[in-house]
Amino acid sequence: MSENKNTVKELKEKLFVSRKNGVFRMTEEELMQCDNYCENYKTFLDEAKTEREAVTASIKLLEAKGFKEYKCGMKLSAGDKIYRNNRGKALIASIIGSAPIEEGTRICAAHIDSPRLDMKQNPVYEDNEIALFKTHYYGGIKKYQWTAIPLSLHGVIVKADGSEVTVSIGENENDPVFCVTDLLPHLATDQMKRNLSQGIKGEELNILIGSRPFKDDEGSELVKLNILNLLFEKYGITESDFISAELEAVPAFKAKDIGFDRSMIGSYGHDDRVCAYTALTATLECEKPYHTVVTVLADKEETGSDGNTGLCSAFLKYFLADIAEALGSNGRTVISASECLSADVNAAFDPTFPEVNERNNCAYINKGVCVTKFTGARGKSGTSDASAEFVGRVRRLLDKENVIWQTGELGKVDMGGGGTVAAYIANLNIDTIDVGVPVLSMHAPYEVVSKIDVYMAYRAFSVFIAD
Ligand code: MN
Ligand code: MN
Repeated sequence: MSENKNTVKELKEKLFVSRKNGVFRMTEEELMQCDNYCENYKTFLDEAKTEREAVTASIKLLEAKGFKEYKCGMKLSAGDKIYRNNRGKALIASIIGSAPIEEGTRICAAHIDSPRLDMKQNPVYEDNEIALFKTHYYGGIKKYQWTAIPLSLHGVIVKADGSEVTVSIGENENDPVFCVTDLLPHLATDQMKRNLSQGIKGEELNILIGSRPFKDDEGSELVKLNILNLLFEKYGITESDFISAELEAVPAFKAKDIGFDRSMIGSYGHDDRVCAYTALTATLECEKPYHTVVTVLADKEETGSDGNTGLCSAFLKYFLADIAEALGSNGRTVISASECLSADVNAAFDPTFPEVNERNNCAYINKGVCVTKFTGARGKSGTSDASAEFVGRVRRLLDKENVIWQTGELGKVDMGGGGTVAAYIANLNIDTIDVGVPVLSMHAPYEVVSKIDVYMAYRAFSVFIAD
């Protein structure tokens, strides 16, 4: 009897997909390394709340490791570490490999923009002696989640004379913060009858910015005047300067450990800084790779990747062509021989909402980095479906290097769906697959990831670029 039991256990181990929690597959030392790694990730989250701040923070890390800004025409040779800053909102970091460049590059592509509230171009107004900002939300949000939480304000303002002001208010302990107000339940009888998507409407996402009128004057709009006067004193800006500004309101929370066991991290914007940071640190620590490493941190993924800082633009293609030429080859050959991990998050199974997932094919927290063969919605529309051969290659690599990974798709068939930058990179004739971290409460102001999965994403990107 007991012999039979052993056979069953052995056979299951041999024949079944392993869905063991990462904790059982890591040594104490590995778990410690994982937790230490995540301390630095939390620092990055707090430092880089917007795509612009992520570029600035990443360049700081790159330069400390000897990466130099790449200018067209620069001579390149194996071991060179370079980066290209695309308009302060997207970034490519690269290490030239020892292999002939015709053998292609190893690309990790993550995005550094996250859902948020953007200020409109004429944002300031006063209503009944309260001053507010009008916003237009960015990316897919559940609007009701963005009320009654502290918000900070980040971005740039380009003044009439062309000079630039960088803004970051609400992150330091003594800074003021901002917020969107919501109706008290006592008077929400009508509001509560709206459906969830209309519970708060886009034009109700107005941000509270002040309430004291300008004192020594008479007339209307004195609260607005007072605010504009304060802003003029502090930044030298006038109302029309908002027209040439990009101001983003994001949650003012700091990244924190979650749970009695501190096994998870709660933060704004894990999607997709969790893959941006892990891909970036893998690149920072990569020495003398065989293939040329190309790590892309893109903007505009949350709005469809269009625009000159998004991955539908040619900036990645041009960069690859530039380095191909600098190394005596051509862009077409190098691009076609390249491989890419589209480094983006996936939805984690949530026990409170089990009905949206199909349990055999969804990602779970703590079960490692998630490899997603295809994305898309309604019959794989809008997908880039990685070939069985490429999935097989990635799978062999992760297994060989003891990276804990799982596979998962985004929700049940016909439940919804979504895409990443994978399709746009695959469209360049590059083998591409989605690899990233499972997230709870994705696109909410406060998202949750597991530390083990963060660490395994870092390990996955490390072994991929070193291969
Ligand atoms: Mn994403
Ligand atoms: Mn997203």
